[in-house]
Amino acid sequence: MRIGAPRERAQGEARVALTPESAQHIQKLGHECVVESGAGRTAGFDDDAYRDAGVEVVDGGAALWSAADVVIKVREPSEEEVGYLREGQTLIAFFWPAQNEDLLERCKATGATVIAMDMVPRISRAQKMDALSSTANIAGYRAVIEAGNQFGRFFAGQVTAAGKVPPAKVLVVGAGVAGLSAIGTATSLGAVVRAFDVRPEVAEQIESMGAEFLFLDFEDSQDGSGSGGYAAPSSPEFREKQLALFREQAPEVDIVITTALIPGKPAPKLWLEDMVQAMKPGSVIVDLAAEKGGNCDLTVPDERIVTDNGVVVVGYTDFPSRMATQASLLYATNIRHMLTDLTPEKDGVIVHDMEDDVIRGVTVAHHGETTFPPPPPKVN
Ligand code: NAD
Repeated sequence: MRIGAPRERAQGEARVALTPESAQHIQKLGHECVVESGAGRTAGFDDDAYRDAGVEVVDGGAALWSAADVVIKVREPSEEEVGYLREGQTLIAFFWPAQNEDLLERCKATGATVIAMDMVPRISRAQKMDALSSTANIAGYRAVIEAGNQFGRFFAGQVTAAGKVPPAKVLVVGAGVAGLSAIGTATSLGAVVRAFDVRPEVAEQIESMGAEFLFLDFEDSQDGSGSGGYAAPSSPEFREKQLALFREQAPEVDIVITTALIPGKPAPKLWLEDMVQAMKPGSVIVDLAAEKGGNCDLTVPDERIVTDNGVVVVGYTDFPSRMATQASLLYATNIRHMLTDLTPEKDGVIVHDMEDDVIRGVTVAHHGETTFPPPPPKVN
């Protein structure tokens, strides 16, 4: 089969789904690779790097979509791209089927197969394809780098001839994949890091990274664990205790990174306006939940604002694209693992096995049918 990656059309999207390195692995599965000219430029891969890796380079989206049996992409297809999609072709991309019902209908009607990389089931076997986790890892890292960029002081404490500098105090709210990545990055830069999560099982992970887990004095403990390792919404009593804890922290901390999310719900509001007002001038909040409405009252998605009391609130939603080379390398690796599972004999023949939990989970349109939502996976 011919596996092809177009240049991403979405505004500001700098990533690419195929790298010269992933192309070499994909060719070992018996496939050929093709890329649209310029597709990798914003991620640091020029056409020659692809040619050196044995990839054919074609001009323009129409040529790419017509050359490829399987189109691999970062973002869901644009109107123009849906027009290119054809029966028998497979599209692999972040698709967000629950939010893109009309788009899914139109893709299904073409008779193409659609694989959504945001639907990889959270089972051990699928971790190598888990593009949401690779993306969250990058977002957590980059949130700390962005905070450091906005913050006017060092992260690590220093004693120098010019004076003593205290370490920065960082609070990470939500310790899922992005939060743990932020904790690891902030501790490695020498900050004093505290973290909070409603799921008590993350305490050990937080502490093993050299950060302090903020426990809540709550009679039912902080058990906010829901199904599948995700959080469940907190009770009103728990929420009040949590907000009281954050109010205590607000005047002390220099940097707050918020990452708290509940699947299928708007982000919980946890860092309220009065907490922002209680922070010192020059403090920084980076809200990784901005796309889902934000954990901070004052977050404006895709913007950086400075409050009257001098606190910077960053609501960028494109952190992975701001690290396009790293993000492309990891995403392309997730995709080539998906292609490995789709090519069991390594003979260049795609076998779309709907009995396979992972393949079934990610397939949202197949043979003219909508196959979303999938049944729950059978194994772990
Ligand atoms: P997420 O992005 O859904 O949420 C981020 C974090 O916010 C979670 O840790 C959640 O508990 C926390 N949170 C929610 N409400 C909160 C509140 N009110 N206050 C403070 N924190 C709050 O989470 P995620 O990164 O997707 O990770 C969720 C779990 O899934 C983790 O245990 C992770 O290790 C696990 N996971 C498993 C796999 C796998 O097995 N393949 C892959 C990825 C993640």
